[in-house]
This record gives sequence, structure tokens and C-alpha cells, in this order.
Amino acid sequence: MDRSNFHRQAPGIWRAEPSGAMRVPAIIYADDALMLAMDDKVFDQVTNVAMLPGIVGAAYAMPDAHWGYGFPIGGVAAFDPEQDGVISAGGVGFDISCGVRAVLTHLSVERIQRGKEQIAERLYQSIPAGLGSKGHVHLDPAEMDRMLAGGARWAVSEGYGDAADLARIEESGCMPGADPAAVSEHAKQRQQDEIGTLGSGNHYLEVQEVAEIFDEDAAAAFGLRRGEAIVSIHCGSRGLGHQIGTDFLHEMVTAAAGFGIELPDRELACCPIRSELGQRYLGAMRAGTNCALANRQILTHLTRGAFAHVFGRVEMPLLFDVSHNTCKEETHLVAGKPQRLFVHRKGATRAFGPGNPTLPPVFSAVGQPVLIGGSMGTSSYVLAGTRKSEELAFSSACHGAGRRMSRHAAMRQWRGRAVVDALADRGIIVRSPSLRGVAEEAPLAYKNSSEVVDSADRLGLARKVARLEPMVCIKG
Ligand code: 5GP
Ligand code: MN
Ligand code: MN
Repeated sequence: MDRSNFHRQAPGIWRAEPSGAMRVPAIIYADDALMLAMDDKVFDQVTNVAMLPGIVGAAYAMPDAHWGYGFPIGGVAAFDPEQDGVISAGGVGFDISCGVRAVLTHLSVERIQRGKEQIAERLYQSIPAGLGSKGHVHLDPAEMDRMLAGGARWAVSEGYGDAADLARIEESGCMPGADPAAVSEHAKQRQQDEIGTLGSGNHYLEVQEVAEIFDEDAAAAFGLRRGEAIVSIHCGSRGLGHQIGTDFLHEMVTAAAGFGIELPDRELACCPIRSELGQRYLGAMRAGTNCALANRQILTHLTRGAFAHVFGRVEMPLLFDVSHNTCKEETHLVAGKPQRLFVHRKGATRAFGPGNPTLPPVFSAVGQPVLIGGSMGTSSYVLAGTRKSEELAFSSACHGAGRRMSRHAAMRQWRGRAVVDALADRGIIVRSPSLRGVAEEAPLAYKNSSEVVDSADRLGLARKVARLEPMVCIKG
């Protein structure tokens, strides 16, 4: 399938009708300019997803979509367990439960500016970042299993952060149904010293200015005020999540034929949700989710320590923590009837609208916060979930700007030192252990985040609440 198979159903909605082995349509949400520049591989990948057993509604791609392993990044697909629906390790992604959390500081931008060098330095010293970096916490096997079962709740019980944080995390900080026994020893070994680390490349910890408010009511509910600084933390489940993905991908590839599943692409390896393998993957993937939630909780604690060191006593409440590499069991309306589905969101954010019963009460009037990265040199955004998104994409929205070019292409085009210097000229401090990583992450390696977010907002996938501008970026 290529772009010619997608017709413009309505402004911003591109649809390929089912043909060949497709069971449902494939739908791409993107304004004309984003569609024109869309990575060619997305067309193939989203139609391949539409061929998987038990898929419901349509296979979707968000405006930030680009090539991913099997499923596109920015892909959303829901499966019915009663109709032999499948679960796919590649459909969750290798960085299980990678996500973003935003922490409020209520410090003015002027105050941050006065201590900007110091906070950049202190954060860089406090936050272990980069490939293979080790954290401050070593987990023995028993503690590892407690972490995998408990997520951020475990981290809080170990003294990282406050109990109040938990209400501001999806699943209240602990993904139920995690099965530490389903996680391989190898995966656990990789994580022994990696908990509480940022990771490399695309992961970041950023001090951002709330530069513009689009929706006063939602901003007030979220605690966002123009001219104040917040901290965004983007990272996931580190080596453990990656190893779970690798282990199960392997098992799913081998097992597919036995389940009678014909794979349009080996990278889409999957198995029935109800199979023993499916249940085991779910247990392991949920344990990986808890690892990511614990990880972001520990990093939040370290961030608060750095701020206290530089700025004295600062209240730093959590705004919200959202994961964007997940498969979750949720209830959605299908042909007007509520149905239990397994929703894969890979490089896509859950975006529950107002009134959703699973949201913390503070968000029930405005919808859940949807946290969108841009790049270290361009705008990031806070959006809010909408009711419309339930009709459009099982309550999902984009997760970032999305890559415009591969890491390799970016590395050929930019030098890390020059990128750091150019950003410094604009008053943005970037600290990273890897200049090569910075080159791969150059702002222009990403799509225009404002175009992506405008697209999502116009369609009603989510609505704009605030624009954030980078001040200090600690890059993995
Ligand atoms: P992913 O989870 O797909 O690796 O990345 C999510 C999004 O984060 C990307 O699509 C990109 O827009 C955004 N992003 C990557 N690096 C940075 C950064 O250093 N700062 C900010 N604010 N966003 C970033
Ligand atoms: Mn991510
Ligand atoms: Mn990640």
C-alpha cells in the first residue's frame, strides 16, 4: 500500500478502505502539509496493522507518525479478545511504557533565569544519563520483584517522592496484573543498576517556560500559569523493557504459525490475547510498565533535590504522568455498545476526555493532561483529552512532534557541538554526555511540533492547553 490508497475522507482524515488481507480500514490523521511530508513507510505499516486478527474499528496513525518496528510510531490499534484479538510486542514498542511526566515548580521564569547555570549543572550531576549509565539504587532479586509489582507506589514506599504523587499518575502509579515471574532473568539483570536513570538519545529532562495558555479553565485545573517554569521528564523502562520486548518478539515470531496467524510482516509478530503466551506477555509488559513508572518517580525525587539545592524550599507537585508505549485493557464504545478492548498505543498518548470515570477527580471536568514533546529547541505542549477523541481513535492523541528523518541522516547533517552552541545563543542550555546523541536529536530532525499539535487540536484528538518553551535540557 502506498499513499495513493489513502483518500481524503474529510479535512485532516485520510482513509484506505479494506482490501486484500485488511480486516478494517486504515486511517491517518494529519493536515495536508503533514500528510505530504509523511514518511512513506507509514502507509505500509498502518495497512499491515489493519490485517491483524481481531482488530476493531480501524488501524490509526497520528499526525506525528513515522516508521517504527512493525507498527508505526504514532500508531493506535484496538483488539477484541473475544474475536481472537492479538497482542503484539512490536505494537507496544521496545521501550515499554516510555512516557512523559510534568512537574510544576510555580517558580517564575525570571527566578529560573537567575539560577539557570546552577540548576543545569546540578541536574546534570544528579540525573544519571547516557547509554549504560548506572543509578544510585541497586536492586537485589527480591527488591526487583517488588519494584516490578509496585511501580511508582514501590518507589514512594522507598522514600522517593510523596504519596500525593500517586493520584497524578496513570493507574495511580501501579499497573495491576504485573507478573514479575514472567520477566526473564536476563531482563532483570539488565535493570539491576539502571533504575533511576534517564537513558540515552531521545530521553530528556527539561526545564520549560509556560509561554502561552490557550485554555484558561484547563490550565487552571492543571496548575499551569503563564510565566512559570515546569519540568518535563521523558524516559521509560530502560534495559528491562527492551529485553522483555526482545524476548517476547522472539517467542511470538516462533509461535505465530501455530496459532494460524499469517504475518504480513515478521515485525508484527503477535499472539492471541487469550493464549498462554499472550497472558504471559501481558504480565511481563505490565511489570515493564511498573519499571517505567518507578523510574520516572525516582527521577522526580532527584529533580526535586536539585531544585531544593539551587532554589531552596520549592513545592513541586506532579501535574501528571502519561505513558505512550502501552497496551491497556479499556472499555470503549463499538457501534454504540461498551466493549472491553486491548488498545495498543505506540508513540501515542491516551487522551481520555471530560467525564471519563477512570480519571482523577481534578481532571474530570476538563479531560486528562496529554503531554507532548517537541524538541530541545522548539515548543512542547500540554493538551487535554476530548470526548471527540473517543470516536476518532479510542481516546488517543499524538505523543510528540515525531521524527522527520532517521538518526543516521541527522548525524550526517549536524555536529553536536554546533547544535549545543546554537541553542546556547538562544538561551537554551543543553547538557548531555553524548554530542553524537545531540546531533541525532537536533531540533530540525523532528517535525514541526506546532503543526502536529494544531493538526491534533483541529481534528479534536485533543485540545491545546499550553505551549512550553525549553530553558534547560538534560539529554540522555
Ligand atoms: P519518542 O518517545 O518517540 O522517542 O519521543 C517522543 C517525542 O519527544 C518526539 O517525537 C519528539 O517530538 C520529542 N522530543 C525528543 N527530544 C526532545 C527534547 O530534547 N526535548 C523535548 N521537549 N522534546 C523532545
Ligand atoms: Mn518516548
Ligand atoms: Mn523511550
